[in-house]
Amino acid sequence: MIHRTATAWQTPEWQRVLKDGFTQVDELIEYLDLDRQLLPAARAAASEFSLKVPREFAALIEKGNLDDPILRQILPLSDELLPQQGFSRDPVGDLATEVVPGVLHKYHGRALLVATGACGINCRYCFRRHYPYSDSFAGRDQWRQALEYLQDNSEVKEVILSGGDPLILPDHQLATLIHSLGKVPHLQRLRIHSRLPVIVPQRLTPELTNQLGVSHLHSTLVLHINHTAEISNQLVRGLSPLRANGVTLLNQSVLLRGVNDNSELLVSLSEKLFEAGVLPYYLHLLDRVEGAAHFEVQESHAIKLHEILRRRLPGYLVPKLVRERAGEKSKSPVCDF
Ligand SMILES: *Cc1c(COP(=O)(O)O)cnc(C)c1O
Ligand code: SF4
Repeated sequence: MIHRTATAWQTPEWQRVLKDGFTQVDELIEYLDLDRQLLPAARAAASEFSLKVPREFAALIEKGNLDDPILRQILPLSDELLPQQGFSRDPVGDLATEVVPGVLHKYHGRALLVATGACGINCRYCFRRHYPYSDSFAGRDQWRQALEYLQDNSEVKEVILSGGDPLILPDHQLATLIHSLGKVPHLQRLRIHSRLPVIVPQRLTPELTNQLGVSHLHSTLVLHINHTAEISNQLVRGLSPLRANGVTLLNQSVLLRGVNDNSELLVSLSEKLFEAGVLPYYLHLLDRVEGAAHFEVQESHAIKLHEILRRRLPGYLVPKLVRERAGEKSKSPVCDF
């Protein structure tokens, strides 16, 4: 008879995959057959914002190709260390919209809950790369305060779980949170913004699917996919039970130089998302965060790309081109569509 240890029995596969990810630039560069001359700069950039990428996601990167669109999103580079005028540490003014610890209430009817500071990957362009997570995220003991705020504000119809990445929370913690949110009478919708299913498709557990299906709140999962290479068969397979359970699936991308600033690619991204049952929602211009200037696509070029998408695709496959502006009451449209 095989004896399972308690931990092997209890640790879900996705958590093991995350724990086992690359965190050392030397190891990643060797695994991907990249030039070791990249190392000193990679180490220096990683000391500002560390390298983190799960192995299975790294396996989608073409070996030896420094221009690979997934690699560019995760590899620390010397570009990050250059002086960056106009780029700041809190570009979207998030900290000013915090109403109680971990709750950002910036837009009418929607409140964003920073459910955790942790994330399964470190994307180099992340606008939260300097976010003081340790002081301000709704850790479990703070959920009570967050829930009280939601109880007291009946104009909030939708709660958005964000982070970090909210799906890094184990299923039982999410279940507790979703259950508590379900008891707030005026809440109608629950939205989860996450990149975890993309980087570790095993995260789409039957428990998660079930929780989202049973809540009386209408649930939406907004994935963060920037490139067709990120849409693995395993991800597509993992999404279909969610759809069957009535969860709305959307995607948002960030327009990134050298990753997806190309109309052919953006057209096929929308088409592939649709095949996977996901509708494109937003195409964001980069938040001007220090360390990410080399990813910026000029607004005039973004508008041209978007015009091509409108000509080539049905309206429902054209993501809205937006940017986040501190102090605005919604995302700001970059063109009229
Ligand atoms: C982006 C964002 C939302 C959601 O905006 P939608 O346009 O509804 O997707 C809500 N709150 C905050 C703080 C946000 O940054
Ligand atoms: S997944 Fe999102 S929150 Fe996490 S590092 Fe990437 S951009 Fe930032």
